[in-house]
Amino acid sequence: MSENQSDPGGRYYPMDLDAILGRVREIAGDIVEPMAEQTDRDARWPEESIRALQQAGLGGLTVPAEFGGLGQGSFGLTQVCEILGQECASTAMCFGMHSVGAAVLSAKATPDQYERYLKPIVEGRHLTTLSLSEAGTGSHFYIPETRLEAVSAEHYQVTGHKTFVTNGGYADSYVVSTVAADPGAPLGQFSCIVVEQDAEGMHWGGPWNGLGMRGNSSRALELEKVLVPRSNLLGDEGDQIWYVFQVVAPYFLMAMAGTYLGIASAALEEARNHLIRRHYTGTGSSLSQLPVLQHRLGCLWGMLERTRRLGYHAAIAYDSGDPDALPAVFTAKAEVADCAVNMVNEVMTLTGGAGYRDGSTLHKWLRDARAAHVMAPTTDMLRIWTGRALLGQPILS
Ligand SMILES: Cc1cc2nc3c(=O)[nH]c(=O)nc-3n(C[C@H](O)[C@H](O)[C@H](O)COP(=O)(O)OP(=O)(O)OC[C@H]3O[C@@H](n4cnc5c(N)ncnc54)[C@H](O)[C@@H]3O)c2cc1C
Repeated sequence: MSENQSDPGGRYYPMDLDAILGRVREIAGDIVEPMAEQTDRDARWPEESIRALQQAGLGGLTVPAEFGGLGQGSFGLTQVCEILGQECASTAMCFGMHSVGAAVLSAKATPDQYERYLKPIVEGRHLTTLSLSEAGTGSHFYIPETRLEAVSAEHYQVTGHKTFVTNGGYADSYVVSTVAADPGAPLGQFSCIVVEQDAEGMHWGGPWNGLGMRGNSSRALELEKVLVPRSNLLGDEGDQIWYVFQVVAPYFLMAMAGTYLGIASAALEEARNHLIRRHYTGTGSSLSQLPVLQHRLGCLWGMLERTRRLGYHAAIAYDSGDPDALPAVFTAKAEVADCAVNMVNEVMTLTGGAGYRDGSTLHKWLRDARAAHVMAPTTDMLRIWTGRALLGQPILS
């Protein structure tokens, strides 16, 4: 935290987006990049990087200024995740999921939720995340089977199994999606509720050991009759679909778009540097002089740049309340997923044996980028949702 961003009481002053991105670049270079290899190798949650971002006053990135946050929308989040993703996609995902969770908590925060969650988030003392996915409904993450039951005037009881909880075991709170247990409740009454880390009845599955995104601590969580104060309900009972489309989808999709744009742009830079650096001793010529490689690099630059522009456009459209933003937001994450996987794949060809051999950063990027297609909403589902939006059909059917 630089001195001009906080007073002795620890309150944070708003930073504009340029200042925020500058601060993120410093942390990305000083802390995220040096930890990236270890994060991937040991499947280690990026503690130092996340704490540095919180201490720099960035924990409240997506919390509105009226709550003391930095008041950034999905455009700021996209760019922050892009910068982090260039150095370590796991860190970008962990910070991105926290920021999506913070936006969800902010959307209809009560004064009590402000005191207990948003204030400590803004002060860098609280990390949150989303716990929506379940084995029973897979990528249809908006249809939870975890049950929410009113057991007294003060408490709900939450019972169910969640999967793939990013920041699992490290976050202080979890935004959990549920379905009403009361048989008299309207069909499919889905609600979001905040469950705190130390609540009795939370049982964590084993550590995350995925192909990529190895630092994201994406773990299974069993909620066994967890008692949660009624004041932890987000919005009203039955509000979950509102949250999914008004907050989760745009913030999550843009956080992920930024993360994978980061991988794609880092890979492109690797290709450019390799073509410049690689000389044949026999002729003294450089790969950068070969027209076919110049052409291929030019195509990759075009792919990245048009994808990035679509992503930025989608985020700005959503933040400005454009009613047509949703198809752009859906397509942005799908296009970025294709771009990141194709980019790393192509760069692996351009960098020859150097890119393919053991220990190359391209290994990590290829593994990390593959998560883009399977994280819900998946690439296939986003294409379908875009088509439905364009045809005036219900998005969920
Ligand atoms: C690294 C990582 C981190 C994650 N972090 C979180 C998190 O923090 N919080 C969270 O809640 N979840 C998280 N998830 C879960 C994720 O968002 C998905 O819910 C999960 O990956 C779905 O997996 P599944 O195997 O059940 O997919 P399945 O539902 O079995 O889908 C398999 C394939 O079938 C396709 N498919 C399924 N239904 C349809 C359909 N109707 N139309 C077209 N295609 C379809 C899918 O597109 C997919 O390609 C994470 C996942 C990963 C990999």
